[in-house]
Amino acid sequence: MRPIQMVDTKNQYLKIKERVDAAVLSVMESSQFIGGKVVNDFTNNLAKYHGSKHVIPSANGTDALQIAMMALGLKAGDEVITPSFTYIATVEVAALLGIKPIFVEVDKRTFCIDANEIEKAITPKTKAIVPVHLYGHAADMEPILQIAKKHNLFVIEDNAQGIGNDYTFSDGTVKKTGTMGHIGCTSFYPSKNLGAFGDGGAMFTEDDALADMMRMIASHGQSKRYYHDVIGCNSRLDAMQAAILDIKLEHLNEYIDARRKAADFYDEQFKNHPNVEIPFRASNNNHVFHQYTLILHDANRDALHQHLADKGIPSMIYYPVPAHRQKMFEAFGGNEFQLPITDWLTERVISLPIHTELDEIQQQLIVNEIKIFLKN
Ligand SMILES: *Cc1c(COP(=O)(O)O)cnc(C)c1O
Repeated sequence: MRPIQMVDTKNQYLKIKERVDAAVLSVMESSQFIGGKVVNDFTNNLAKYHGSKHVIPSANGTDALQIAMMALGLKAGDEVITPSFTYIATVEVAALLGIKPIFVEVDKRTFCIDANEIEKAITPKTKAIVPVHLYGHAADMEPILQIAKKHNLFVIEDNAQGIGNDYTFSDGTVKKTGTMGHIGCTSFYPSKNLGAFGDGGAMFTEDDALADMMRMIASHGQSKRYYHDVIGCNSRLDAMQAAILDIKLEHLNEYIDARRKAADFYDEQFKNHPNVEIPFRASNNNHVFHQYTLILHDANRDALHQHLADKGIPSMIYYPVPAHRQKMFEAFGGNEFQLPITDWLTERVISLPIHTELDEIQQQLIVNEIKIFLKN
């Protein structure tokens, strides 16, 4: 049996090796390494996939979030409302710009920001809400967008883990995550559902002016070459990554289906287990299972993690420390936030291997070891 990995990018690559190798070689031969047709083709295809007007490439997902906040004119002293139960990049970029993250609770079932907790966190300084589609489950965007509209706030979706998820509004309208807020941001980090062979990211928007502003910021604030209108940064997706991503984009729905199939198998195995709570799937969205994350009840999570490691089975704790308890946020008053659900989840979640190359023999082994440990 192949060794079990959290993600298996190698075997995924081998299935499309011929096309990927040819595409990379062709970029080398063209020596158009930055920008150009290959990057434009990919961003156009990604826009089409999302039904989105503009896709602006960036060097990574963290930059995408930072450029989004800059383009919306967020500045030092402003506040953004975000979950604490997320990857640090979401809130780190706010702090980097001097913006104060106001951490709110997540919904215990979806792991995403609890829309009911947002309004009480709004102050005159609040400028934006930054929901995160964590693990591939969509945040409940309909009420979030309503609150944003009512209070005149921007919405920046962190879609690094949610790419491909279809969210259904109560009137039946379906939209892809990342295309509902003013700006959506995503990451092509290799382990993400649409992963490059290096770093990459993108911003999505329907707004022409915002698209222009983000393009300008990502390119040293240039309106035309060597004319710099605003303070920007340097954040580019290179052509080799775009060439690879364009091929992988054709397979994205198939990759998502493979993840869902693996999730269905785990669900079936654990659904009646007294110590294990399987991931919730809200009926208004179509989970893309970037992670398959269990909540353990009355069990020693860290000992299970170790037990699996001893058996050669990887598992991960996403994330062992929530953002508001990170040392980096001490100066931002992180410890003043009372987030018992976030703390509770942080102590109980464990993510199992999930990827496009996982087979049922591997999954059965993982399940068996977990059941042996839990003695059920
Ligand atoms: C991966 C990730 C990011 C950052 O993306 P990078 O490309 O690694 O910079 C941001 N937010 C979330 C939720 C992520 O999972």
